[in-house]
Amino acid sequence: MDPKKNYYEILGVPESAKGEEIKKAFRRQAKKCHPDVNPGDKAAEARFKEINEAHEVLRDRGKREEYDSVRKGVFQGRGERGPFGWPGGSGFEPGGRAYHAETVDFDEVFGDFLRGGGTRFSQGGIQGRDIHMELPVEFLDMANGTVREIHYRRPRTCAPCGGTGRSGRKGCASCFGAGVSEAEERVKVKIPAGAQDGSKIRVAGKGEEKPHPGGNGDLVITLRMIQHPYFRRDGSDILMDVPIHYSEAVKGAKISIPTIDGPVMVSIPPGSGGGRKLRLKGKGVLVPGTTSRGDQYVVLQVSVPGSRSEKFLDLVVGLAEYEDPNLRSGWN
Ligand SMILES: [Zn+2]
Repeated sequence: MDPKKNYYEILGVPESAKGEEIKKAFRRQAKKCHPDVNPGDKAAEARFKEINEAHEVLRDRGKREEYDSVRKGVFQGRGERGPFGWPGGSGFEPGGRAYHAETVDFDEVFGDFLRGGGTRFSQGGIQGRDIHMELPVEFLDMANGTVREIHYRRPRTCAPCGGTGRSGRKGCASCFGAGVSEAEERVKVKIPAGAQDGSKIRVAGKGEEKPHPGGNGDLVITLRMIQHPYFRRDGSDILMDVPIHYSEAVKGAKISIPTIDGPVMVSIPPGSGGGRKLRLKGKGVLVPGTTSRGDQYVVLQVSVPGSRSEKFLDLVVGLAEYEDPNLRSGWN
């Protein structure tokens, strides 16, 4: 607990917020910066920790009282703000468009985390196991979102023996004593636009089938992005190497560049060196939990002419007169 931090602001709730409001705000904020949605994003990870810390204190009556009293003593009247300046609930409602589907509830994506993980109990019975699978998805389907029908073998409790594996004094003839059987299952899953390699989708109740009181496990799908011939992903940004001619690099040019929305004309500024990055604003993929998109970055690669003809080599020697003699002088 750190009284210098404003946990209310971090969660985006008023200081009068009650339990349910705090829980909802926590879920809303946690979704935005959950590591599963932002793999490798250190800032999101830090925010996620902050949100957890705020929730741990505000959900617990004793801790909250202690925090409130210490904080009032220290910061009263100074207008102290939290470290991240959360917009206090003024932001958009995340998740709604991207992750809600008939069969997938975004809340369930974070089910393990919200429930504390591990073996789960409900109503006094052991819940069926989760089934984990990996799903390869094409780059553009991951960027634009799509719906997939998934076929898998789903374990269930053997009905004739009720999972005991026994039939009277003999073994169950239906499951040969295993107590479980398998059935072919199909489920439609919405892949949200802007999903990342490693993103997880949890389909509630579609894991191992267990009768009440335990209830079914979940189906947990880890998305694996299939590489694209020229687009790459960096979070919600798209990167692309674009070869340009030497003459285009020197004089500048207008060239057609593919984006996930189709080709756009891009101006290459005169004097562009290899490695220069041009930004196509908003041409990346949807940022999960928001309505905004990342950017596309075009990385210029200057192509060296392959010709070795006498005329060409004469031209190159002529060009050398214009080259900077101090190009590599900074090293010694
Ligand atoms: Zn059986």
